[in-house]
Amino acid sequence: MISKRRLIVGAGALICVAGARPARAALPPISMARHEQAMRQAIEEARRNPVYPFGAVIVRADTGEVMARGVNNSRENPILHGEIACMNDYVRLNGNKGWGQAVLYTTGEPCSMCMSALVWAGIGGVVFASSIDGIRRAGIEQIDITARAVAAASPFYSGLLLGGVLAAETDRMFMDRRKG
Ligand SMILES: [Zn+2]
Repeated sequence: MISKRRLIVGAGALICVAGARPARAALPPISMARHEQAMRQAIEEARRNPVYPFGAVIVRADTGEVMARGVNNSRENPILHGEIACMNDYVRLNGNKGWGQAVLYTTGEPCSMCMSALVWAGIGGVVFASSIDGIRRAGIEQIDITARAVAAASPFYSGLLLGGVLAAETDRMFMDRRKG
């Protein structure tokens, strides 16, 4: 488990909200370099939607292998946020199994719909870049329920939750996105 203290020392902007429940299913330790490498893949995915650059990848926690990708496609279907698109891709490619050893990386903090879906899947970890507040500052409306609040309201769930990874980059990406 990544200690809260180490994260605060390492990067002031990071929010580590895991650890409330020590019984969390054990993920192998993941270095910050590996988190950033995976987040860069999510950013690459996000660039496929220049208006709503919400992109996600799901990686295997032990190897870092990318197992699925997704980008916001809410023009086609309102529930196709980047995370949901990525979860659909995961099931298509890998079947509905192995979630506990997988980590989803997303350019924006999962909304309550997406975070609930990730909790129901029992995903091993969720790592996001921009916070809900950061996304809202870029002029994109957000439901005011944090991913942390959804996880905290799910007593059966104890996955890793980490925010702020490469957030300076994604905050800028959301600010500079094509409007309309
Ligand atoms: Zn969402």
